[in-house]
Amino acid sequence: MQYERIKAKSLLSKPIMADGWFHINRSMNAYRGCEHGCVYCDGMSESYHVDNFLTHIRIKENAAQILRRELKKAGFTSKSELETETLWSFLDEEDAKRLAMKSPRKQVIGVCGGVSDGYQPAEKEHEITRQVLETLLDFQMPVFVLTKSDLVLRDLDLLKRIHEVAFADVLFTITLVDDMVQRIFEPRASTTSKRHSALKKVRKEGLFGGVMATPIIPGIGDTYENMRGLAKEAKRTGAQFILWGGMTLKPGRQKKHFLNVIRKRFPEKLELLKRIFRKNHPYGHADYKELPVNIMLRGYEICKDVGISDRTIRHRLPNEPEANSQVLGALLDIAFRQTYLLGMSWNKSTPYRELALRIENGVDDLSKIREEGELAEKLMVDSQLLITVEEILDTGSCQVLDDIHLRLDELVSRNDA
Ligand code: SF4
Repeated sequence: MQYERIKAKSLLSKPIMADGWFHINRSMNAYRGCEHGCVYCDGMSESYHVDNFLTHIRIKENAAQILRRELKKAGFTSKSELETETLWSFLDEEDAKRLAMKSPRKQVIGVCGGVSDGYQPAEKEHEITRQVLETLLDFQMPVFVLTKSDLVLRDLDLLKRIHEVAFADVLFTITLVDDMVQRIFEPRASTTSKRHSALKKVRKEGLFGGVMATPIIPGIGDTYENMRGLAKEAKRTGAQFILWGGMTLKPGRQKKHFLNVIRKRFPEKLELLKRIFRKNHPYGHADYKELPVNIMLRGYEICKDVGISDRTIRHRLPNEPEANSQVLGALLDIAFRQTYLLGMSWNKSTPYRELALRIENGVDDLSKIREEGELAEKLMVDSQLLITVEEILDTGSCQVLDDIHLRLDELVSRNDA
């Protein structure tokens, strides 16, 4: 393994709004390359321009400083700055609140789980992700962590403090229930059982947390036993959800490496996997007609049976009105389920996504707007969408979501027949 300390020039991704998968607004990577060595790792692909991704780890030693600079540039003020600001000491409590309201809407920062794991082995010594968390605590930013390592437990102290002032959402990627099989595909990550224990601790400490069951490897991870086992373990650990997703395999280095391992360890699956990815889609998409199982639908069915949600949760941002948060969560749920579970066209769910985007971009408290009778005008929605929003405000759900669930139940029972 080769390690190299480098100076990053920039860190945060451009802002993303209304993200229905993880509900994050920015992401970052404290490292380039990842020692976990997952056989299916997307980071190996030529499209990321990182040579020797699994064996040459670049450590961004100045990540925390760059992060601080970029957050300031985006208009955020850190707590430490406010405390040293002399003007601040002359403000009374009301003025201070008004000033806080004027600062930009908080953003959920994904600190790892982009293209590298922030808790890979190098983090033990270099503590770059820890420094990043210290900075985010100073800016009181909500934090999202996605990892395959129990090293995250080292930073529980910081994550708990972040959760007190904003929130900390800690997800573990867990795709194979059997440690032995998991070891083949994710050789240097924590074992599945260690990740489950870590998640249990995270939840016991009161942080948000769940399981990201992606990528489910076709023909290997998509068995009923594996998926049900994952869901049952997730439930046992107190996970708030388990989110399912398929595998992509980009032509080039990633595909070659993956198929080489399959050839050696699962030769009986080689033909199936070659067929599924034979079209060499530039983004690595599978040929859906060749997939043995509809993972999302099977996941939905299993989750219902086990009693755990199959959807990530959109947590309320600091200073976000409760009503706005509730409506946003439901709209994104509709769009996600229509697209990824019912296979409807992207256009069909566009109105829900666009409305979510408008609300996220800064609409006042929806319950107040409703009281003033200006909901349709302020949200720029037609009568049908207005009914949906009002239903969500009244009950937390709506007819559109009920219909989606009915349709999903029908599809599941047809699959069983
Ligand atoms: S943990 Fe993620 S980034 Fe690291 S090797 Fe595995 S898939 Fe790649």
